[in-house]
Amino acid sequence: MKKLLFGIIGNPISHSLSPVLHNYWFKKYNINAEYKLFKIKENGIKDVINKVKNKQIKGLNVTLPFKKSVIPFLTKTINDAKETHSVNTIFLDKEDNTIGENTDVFGFQAGYLQTLSDEEKKNQKALIIGAGGVAPSIILALIKSKISNITLVNRTYEKSLFLKRKFKMINVMEWKNFHNRMNDFDIVINATSLGLLDGEDFTFNLPKINKKLVYIDTIYNPSQTKMILNFKSQKIKSFNGLQMFIYQGQKSFYFWNKINPEVDESLIKLLESNLK
Ligand code: NDP
Repeated sequence: MKKLLFGIIGNPISHSLSPVLHNYWFKKYNINAEYKLFKIKENGIKDVINKVKNKQIKGLNVTLPFKKSVIPFLTKTINDAKETHSVNTIFLDKEDNTIGENTDVFGFQAGYLQTLSDEEKKNQKALIIGAGGVAPSIILALIKSKISNITLVNRTYEKSLFLKRKFKMINVMEWKNFHNRMNDFDIVINATSLGLLDGEDFTFNLPKINKKLVYIDTIYNPSQTKMILNFKSQKIKSFNGLQMFIYQGQKSFYFWNKINPEVDESLIKLLESNLK
């Protein structure tokens, strides 16, 4: 049988661990398939989605900066993709429609939020730092997990207001000196690109943080951002973005192959060995 082709579109893309993740599962479940990186430009979106339509590519993931711009090229978006206007998974349905779905929402829920009890979730105050492509997925994941006290802070204030138009219940905060208000929250989530390997980083010094606060960084490369190291030095429970990454991939894999792949120890070791 012909080898099936899968991949991820984005730009830049070389840092993506998605091929490591999916090729591990293809091997584990004896699927004759390969997952590749597709570095494309905006004007290459139509072509690559046509390849899904004519069955040259079986499934695609989408990353920065195309999660929104792929939408006009698809037959439709469904479920979380429809609610967030952010697509990270593409496949063909039985009627040969190209479908855009979002598995980042599930990734964030399964990676972190399902460990909290309903009682804990009800009283949690969450702060999301960032209002870019991934922010609506994090907002929706929090809402679905019954965490409704959500505040958003972003360098460009207008982008927070734009998200507030969609998710009316969120609060928005000014960027200036926001770090001094971190102790007002129970969960702080970094959804910016600040801290990415070889990129820019936060410049402020953290105040003394309440012991009960939980810090989640969506970044997984490096595995320990400067913020994570800072929080950890104050003995604050901190997570990187690896769990979110693994679980968004698990759900994409399910859409394409109808197998719910196991997240086992060797997979985590393999991914960690690929991180800085
Ligand atoms: P976008 O490029 O859409 O958004 C970037 C965000 O970072 C914006 O909020 C932007 O603010 C902010 N930002 C960038 N530079 C600066 C700066 N110098 N000072 C202050 N703020 C800054 O990216 P995404 O939303 O798609 O991704 C955000 C992060 O989430 C990335 O680090 C990505 O790796 C991570 N991610 C992780 C996933 C996982 O599975 N773990 C899945 C998806 C994303 P402004 O609006 O002012 O420009």
